[in-house]
Amino acid sequence: MNNQLYSNLIFELSHPGRIGCNLPQNDFPRHDIPSSLTRESAAELPECDELTVIRHYTNHSGNNFGVENGFYPLGSCTMKYNPKINDEVAAMPDFQNIHPLQPEDTVRGARQVTTMLRQTLSALTGMHDFTLKPCAGAHGELAGLMVIRAYHENRQDHGRTKVIVPDSAHGTNPASAAVCGLDVVEVKSMADGTVDLDDLAAKLDDHVAAMMMTNPNTLGLFEHNILKIVEMVHACGGLMYYDGANLNPLLGVCRPGDMGFDVVHVNLHKTFSTPHGGGGPGSGPVGVREGLENFFPQVNPYHGNFLVELRALTYILTLGRENIKMVGPLATLNATYIRESLKDLYELPIDTLSKHEFVFNGLSDKSTGVTTMDVAKRLLDFGFHAPTIYFPLLFHESMMIEPTECESLETIDRFISAMRQIAQEAQQQPETVKSAPHHTPIKRVDDVLAARQPVLTYPQSSIPKT
Ligand SMILES: *Cc1c(COP(=O)(O)O)cnc(C)c1O
Repeated sequence: MNNQLYSNLIFELSHPGRIGCNLPQNDFPRHDIPSSLTRESAAELPECDELTVIRHYTNHSGNNFGVENGFYPLGSCTMKYNPKINDEVAAMPDFQNIHPLQPEDTVRGARQVTTMLRQTLSALTGMHDFTLKPCAGAHGELAGLMVIRAYHENRQDHGRTKVIVPDSAHGTNPASAAVCGLDVVEVKSMADGTVDLDDLAAKLDDHVAAMMMTNPNTLGLFEHNILKIVEMVHACGGLMYYDGANLNPLLGVCRPGDMGFDVVHVNLHKTFSTPHGGGGPGSGPVGVREGLENFFPQVNPYHGNFLVELRALTYILTLGRENIKMVGPLATLNATYIRESLKDLYELPIDTLSKHEFVFNGLSDKSTGVTTMDVAKRLLDFGFHAPTIYFPLLFHESMMIEPTECESLETIDRFISAMRQIAQEAQQQPETVKSAPHHTPIKRVDDVLAARQPVLTYPQSSIPKT
């Protein structure tokens, strides 16, 4: 690999006067722009020939890691494979070229797609109806909490300002509650990782608007007291919110609606196999039980991310009613197999049956000084993406592993043997792990410096003049 080309910024490859494009003659009439609106000096743009540009970006694209490069066991993120047929359907010109303001009777097919998806999601979750407008999980949480707030206000019940969130919750839960103007009250987990009912009881009163839950929770544990929890929250007048970003383990097995949840969001870009990462586009539809559909807020001027919805519906229809029931059990089987194959070397703080993901608390042998960060970095040398690390916050060395149902036994076995080798290296040659990664274009970066002093623009002054 030509390292010079590989690591440079496009600005560093610039040569004054080089031209990489050939614009057609402008045959539009000329308009004089007022001088107050024009720039005083030319924009500082890179000047490169086309081949240099192509090589530059093609080489950089090789630095990306995605599900199509290798195993990606990022817990709570459900990095499952996105079958190509989803993209083929989303690329059909008849879908791609429609406009959200087109007359209703010219987009009947598209309406049918959204109606089918709403009905299918309702059937899969046990809810009455869905809105497809929210464009991410967190956006869905906000929309769902707005439903709950509107419901209480509509009953003239104005004092309900509290949202109960377990301490194992995903960070977006308290953030969404705060954005919705509600106060977050944390409820503790018990030693077995599930919600502490005594602590919950102490926090319930007529100021509670809702309780937000993920089930299985972020430890991958099914909240076995869920029916009791729902009963307690309903008895005090609050509603139950289900964070279904990772509905994967439940698909075809059980439904939040049947557990008594009132409002649900799902992430099409996790469970329903549409691409994610890199900032979108996502989709976080919100479902409600009967009677709450009148409170759907206007969180999007149009119809949501339609092409993402189309991919999700394609995925669901491709699997069909019977095969979709295999998703949850297979995701759980894969996670369980990894957990059981590694728990002699990695600390399993809660050794009970988990679902589609589980959490290790670093290596069992803490005396080597090898941390979860070191293990995560070393995994990159084996061609694997790291698991989610240092989340959930319940343990100091969290390592949250979610393989999804898509992986073959051979891939999972290779991951297990890499993890075992790393544990062995930690004993015998800890420096190898602590100084990893060794085979990536960029070695260990200074996360703290990057977070505290981010450099978000390339300093023009530092471009070498060539
Ligand atoms: C991913 C995730 C979210 C947030 O979804 P975004 O689309 O990233 O906003 C919320 N809750 C849980 C449990 C998640 O895993």
